[in-house]
Amino acid sequence: MSEVEEDAPDASINHAVAIDYWNTVQPNVNGMLGGFPQVSRIDLQGSSNFYAKVRRLTGRQTGELVSHAVDCGAGIGRITAGFLAKVAQVIDIVEPVKKFTDELQADTCKDLVEKGRIDAIYNAGLESWTSTALYKYDLIWNQWCLGHLTDAQLVEYFSRCSQYLAEGGLIVVKENLSSDPNGRDLFDEEDSSVTRTEIKFRKLFEESGLDLVWSEVQRGLPKGLYAVKMFALRPKHL
Ligand code: SAH
Repeated sequence: MSEVEEDAPDASINHAVAIDYWNTVQPNVNGMLGGFPQVSRIDLQGSSNFYAKVRRLTGRQTGELVSHAVDCGAGIGRITAGFLAKVAQVIDIVEPVKKFTDELQADTCKDLVEKGRIDAIYNAGLESWTSTALYKYDLIWNQWCLGHLTDAQLVEYFSRCSQYLAEGGLIVVKENLSSDPNGRDLFDEEDSSVTRTEIKFRKLFEESGLDLVWSEVQRGLPKGLYAVKMFALRPKHL
């Protein structure tokens, strides 16, 4: 192995450490957002504006709900309840920590579950998740969870996502960006994740055969947090 690879921050990722960490976190919006619950409203509004714009740019009708979305690394379903339910009829959930999906079913997304608008709930990490659904997804939403996958796992995961995407569907990545002055990804020991640079994300999208349709910075976040960027992607072959 080359020196560069040995040094790679993602080599330190340990899934068991990450799951242990998340099991200590309260199943509420404050826990999901690392002590910045006030960010949620701005975040959800930004996502809604971004998705509406991308739908317009790609020539899709914006008024209608799409058929199926999946909330990946969903936590307690903050995004499903606050945004995805407004754009998709049925939503699947992927989240490895059971106490979060228990909360989702008991509280955050209770109404949606009762109305049959949440279909499958997968308790799995994205590195091992496989969809058993007969339908494909119009929208695969990945937010604040992809740092738990290594670079190699992420490329493999994106390739899997491409197979699960309906015609005209989109993969959205909304993640923090590394602010490292030397342009390196940053490893966080506490939750065993990496924060990637934008350059790294673009490289991994390319390696995964994804085209970048549109990207935007999330505006209005408190100073002192990482920059957050949204990327809308679709497979080159679709
Ligand atoms: N996306 C949600 C939750 C963010 S918190 C939101 O924005 O509100 C990060 C989530 O990633 C936690 O729920 C954590 O359990 C989950 N997670 C940890 N490891 C993961 C993995 N390997 N694959 C998918 N999700 C993971």
